[in-house]
Amino acid sequence: MTQEHNNLINGEWVAGTAYTPNINPSNTADVQGHYTQASAAQLDDAVQAARAAFAGWSVSGIQARADALDKIGTEILARREELGTLLAREEGKTQPEGIGEAARAGNIFKFFAGECLRLAGETLPSVRPGIGVEITREPLGVIGIITPWNFPIAIPAWKIAPALAYGNCVVFKPADLVPGCAWALAEIISRSGIPAGVFNLVMGRGSVIGDPLVTHPGIDAISFTGSQAVGNRIALQCATSLKKFQLEMGGKNPQVILDDANLAQAVELSVQSAFFSTGQRCTASSRLIVTEGIYPQFVEGMKARMATLKIGDALEAGIDIGPVASLAQLEQDLGYVGIAQGEGATLVAGGERLQRASEGFYMQPALITDTTGAMRINREEVFGPVASILRVKDYDAALAEANNTPFGLSAGIATSSLKYATHFKRHSQAGMVMVNLPTAGVDYHVPFGGRKGSSYGPREQGRYAQEFFTVVKTSYTGM
Ligand code: NAD
Repeated sequence: MTQEHNNLINGEWVAGTAYTPNINPSNTADVQGHYTQASAAQLDDAVQAARAAFAGWSVSGIQARADALDKIGTEILARREELGTLLAREEGKTQPEGIGEAARAGNIFKFFAGECLRLAGETLPSVRPGIGVEITREPLGVIGIITPWNFPIAIPAWKIAPALAYGNCVVFKPADLVPGCAWALAEIISRSGIPAGVFNLVMGRGSVIGDPLVTHPGIDAISFTGSQAVGNRIALQCATSLKKFQLEMGGKNPQVILDDANLAQAVELSVQSAFFSTGQRCTASSRLIVTEGIYPQFVEGMKARMATLKIGDALEAGIDIGPVASLAQLEQDLGYVGIAQGEGATLVAGGERLQRASEGFYMQPALITDTTGAMRINREEVFGPVASILRVKDYDAALAEANNTPFGLSAGIATSSLKYATHFKRHSQAGMVMVNLPTAGVDYHVPFGGRKGSSYGPREQGRYAQEFFTVVKTSYTGM
């Protein structure tokens, strides 16, 4: 058996009930390692350890927190190639994409190291003479962090770093499909000088470890990223026990292409945001909404560019797109191609499983035309390299179609018109709007999140993260 990896509970590495293999989706014969599954009792131990550690950590000096986070960020950046390679091996992003994600995680820790020193309050005069009012932010408590498989190191980083920076303790449950990066991150955090119990890692399935983490009375708040179905369930559970919660969920992100767009740029950014990272980004654009005047050239341009894409082993040099992350996800992707065809849409490129030298979950990116906004392919998240095209008359119809979705994470427009770009930025019902840029690809120091069915609760990342990870206190002082 390859190296065994255990849970981190109260500063100790603890074996769980069983070990499961971490399988490379580019080559299913390659097992990266074996990862333990925590028991419910171990989850309880982790929560108790975090509760006990909170008393000290919540009043620890900001310099100690800043130093620890800076040390974590420095090590991740120094090891970005190794961690990015691990990421590509377990999730299937290409190696350059994996290295980029690891660097992002390092930069997030560095950013929040600085934020430790910048947590400001307010002072106001009271409406009653002789009284002063102070508004301060305090740590929230013990945070349960639950993450999805598609960004195995960046999403954990953008939740764990602010949680620790603002004086909270953490119980972290990563996605069971990709425990490798989560474990590597936990191992780095365990050597950062943070006291035992402040940060705990419990690995396992959502139903076994995630569910009791959400309902545990020792948890004060839940920060979740994942599917809408699980997010909805967590919302109900947190509401029942009055826990604070934050949800980042799915997307059905539109990319509008207007007649006046630069065609080559529009094709490139559409291919980028629909298919790179195998379309497995919550911000990927899966609906390409194209006005009539540019429609024929755009479809031809997409087909031509897609024919040049190199799909293969994520660790192979020169590959554009790696495999789908799992067999279940591949079956879902192929299933949606069939669903679209069954609804009367036309598959104009790709959409089939590919064979490569090693056994893996490879898929040729799919482009689907002749779709309407009512079709399932345009309403439900596929989460794979599958994009559909909606042909519309003009900008107004494009905007209406872009907003015709229960989701609202990211939206893009390709245009050379300042008027339409400005109008779209104001009237798009998405949390993030891109002009002449892919819908995916965001900075780490500014807020991230969506509207409607994509998100619930305060924004993540940047200084806006303090809204979720702190609690406000108002103090009055008589003179
Ligand atoms: P998922 O909802 O299946 O799982 C997410 C996490 O929740 C995993 O750790 C899982 O083990 C856990 N979980 C499952 N059932 C649970 C339960 N009953 N109680 C508590 N935890 C439970 O999602 P996934 O398949 O891992 O990830 C893909 C989804 O994540 C897509 O919908 C994608 O759009 C979304 N996503 C959103 C964002 C965003 O920021 N909006 C970012 C990345 C991914």
